[in-house]
Amino acid sequence: MNGSLSRRLFTAGVGCAAATAGARTRICEVCGRRLPRQSYVYAGKTVCSQECIDALRPKCSICGNIIRGNYIKADGKIYCGEACFRTTLPKCEICNQPVEQGFSITQHRYCANCVEKQPICFSCGLPGANPTRLKDGRDICNDCMRRAVKTQDAAQPHYEHALRQLEAWTSLTIATVPALVLIDRDEMRRLSKKIRQSNSPVSIRGLYSRQVMMSKRGLFGAWKEEPSLAQEKIYIVDHLSDEVFRVAATHELMHDLIHEHFPRLEEAPLWVQEGICQQATAEFCRRRNYSDTLHGIENCPDPDYGDGYRYIHGLSGFRGWAGLRRWMETVDVAALPETAIIMPAK
Ligand SMILES: [Zn+2]
Ligand SMILES: [Zn+2]
Ligand SMILES: [Zn+2]
Ligand SMILES: [Zn+2]
Ligand SMILES: [Zn+2]
Repeated sequence: MNGSLSRRLFTAGVGCAAATAGARTRICEVCGRRLPRQSYVYAGKTVCSQECIDALRPKCSICGNIIRGNYIKADGKIYCGEACFRTTLPKCEICNQPVEQGFSITQHRYCANCVEKQPICFSCGLPGANPTRLKDGRDICNDCMRRAVKTQDAAQPHYEHALRQLEAWTSLTIATVPALVLIDRDEMRRLSKKIRQSNSPVSIRGLYSRQVMMSKRGLFGAWKEEPSLAQEKIYIVDHLSDEVFRVAATHELMHDLIHEHFPRLEEAPLWVQEGICQQATAEFCRRRNYSDTLHGIENCPDPDYGDGYRYIHGLSGFRGWAGLRRWMETVDVAALPETAIIMPAK
C-alpha cells in the first residue's frame, strides 16, 4: 500500500536567434506577422519576438505561468516547480501535509510519519488523530469517539438493528436472543482467553457466551453444564463507533443463529464458525457501504477470522446466503480441515 507518484524533471528549451536570411519562411509561425530583420527559432519554429517564443513554451498546469527553466512533469501534466506540484498531492488525513510517498487504505491517505507516530484506533483500526485514551489503555480516534457507543442503553437499539438485519438476510429467526452485555477490554481479555490460545493480533470486540462454554467443555473433557437460556449472553466492548458496534453485534448474533439452526456445526473447527460469522458481517458491510470495515474483514491475517472468512466466501461468494445455507446443512463436518486452507479453484 506504499504508493509514490512518478515524476520527472525537465528543462524548457532555449530560443536562439536566427538570421532572417536563413529563415525558411517570411512570416512568424505563431502570430502570422511578417518576420522582422531579427527573428528567432524556437522548438523548430521561426518566430518574430520573445512574446511569440513564450507562446510556444510549456505552461504550468496549476498557476499557468510560462516555464523558462526547469519544470516537473508527472502524470502527463507540467508544473513550474515543487510548490505547484505539491498542490496536486493527496493530503495526509491526520497532519494535512501533501503525501508524495506514504500509505493508503481504502480511501484514506496517511504520510509515513503519522502512520509511525499515531496510535491505531481500537474501534476502526486506522491511525487516529488526537485519540482519546480510555482507562483500559485503548486509543479511540476522534471520529469513533464522536459516535462511540458508551452505555448499555445507547447500545440496545444498535443491537436490535443488527438482529433485524441478520434475520432479514438469512430469512431465519433467533428464538431466544442472548442478552447484550457491554464490557471493557480488560474484561473482554479475561473472557476471550478461554477460547483463543493463539497470540494473533486480532483485537476481540465481541464474544458469544456459548463459545466460552464450549471451550470449558474441551478443557475438562466431561464438562456437562449447559448455560440456561437466560444465561446466554453476547459481550461487546464499549466505546466502539456505532458502525463498528453493529458489525461486532452481527458477528456474535450469527454465532447464536448457527447454534439455534445449524447445531451440527458446533463440532466444527473454530475457523468454520468464525468464517461464517465474518461472512454474515461482510454482507452487512456491503449493504451499508461500510467499506473500511469490509476491507478489514477481507484482509484480516488471522487464521480463523481471516482465512476462515476467505474459505467461506470462496464457497458462497457468488451464491449468497442460499449457497452458504446449503453448505451448512450438508457439509461433512468430520472431514473439514483443522485450518482454513484456501479452496482450490474448481
Ligand atoms: Zn510572432
Ligand atoms: Zn506553477
Ligand atoms: Zn501526516
Ligand atoms: Zn476510529
Ligand atoms: Zn466469533
